Amino acid sequence: MGVVGGPVNPFKPVSVLVLVDIDKPSALDKYPGLKSIVESTVSWYTGPRCPKCEEKHLEVLEPGVKFKCSKCDVEFTLSEAKRGVAALVTVDSSTAEKYIPGTVRGGDVELLLNNYQLIPPSLHPSGVKYEWIKPFDFEAPNLGVRALVDSEVVSLLEELGVLKPETTRTEERTEKSASTIVAETQEKTVRTTVTLRKLGDSEILEVKELLKPFYVPEHRQKLCLYLAGHGAYSKIHPVSKNRVQRTLGITLRELLRGV
Ligand SMILES: [Zn+2]
Repeated sequence: MGVVGGPVNPFKPVSVLVLVDIDKPSALDKYPGLKSIVESTVSWYTGPRCPKCEEKHLEVLEPGVKFKCSKCDVEFTLSEAKRGVAALVTVDSSTAEKYIPGTVRGGDVELLLNNYQLIPPSLHPSGVKYEWIKPFDFEAPNLGVRALVDSEVVSLLEELGVLKPETTRTEERTEKSASTIVAETQEKTVRTTVTLRKLGDSEILEVKELLKPFYVPEHRQKLCLYLAGHGAYSKIHPVSKNRVQRTLGITLRELLRGV
């Protein structure tokens, strides 16, 4: 049994489901904001972790019962094991667009959109059953899934080190000249600290050459869509993608004019 993150129709047409995947449970002690969110929403235990180092790659000595850590060789039973934790939240689609472009990683925590996670009573490959910490509440609004507002998403991402705290951002902004800020606004700079790679001119030409054979007249949109998806995957800055699209468009117009 699984759950898929993405647009949520039954709840609110404008909200999306986000999976919070906590690989190492110590993250809950490290990030109190994360902990309070997890405690207030639908959540469950995922696979077993080494009680000593929280490693998830384990040798299964007896399925669902006894394990050995692949990292520190500690042998332990299910009752001694630590467990990964997963939780669900919903956010406005505009918030998700801004801050959660697919998958966001911060420390040992992942926020996943358009992804899936197994929920109880599924069986983990280790033979351990996923267990509810706080199951869906079919009487509660949003089924007991907490809806995070924009500011709560920002706080969480700041806590996880994905976003810089607002104060740091303000300081940086005041240090920059007005023209830089205008330029950045025009580029619609993505606020996350996920490093987005800007392509150099030669790289853009290279991508253009690679894509040219696949270009079908009147189907530029499809190519752009592919580019957008692939770019996000390989963390290419959106500005670079736009430049490739523009370069491609201009060159093709030139080619057509030459015919
Ligand atoms: Zn270990």
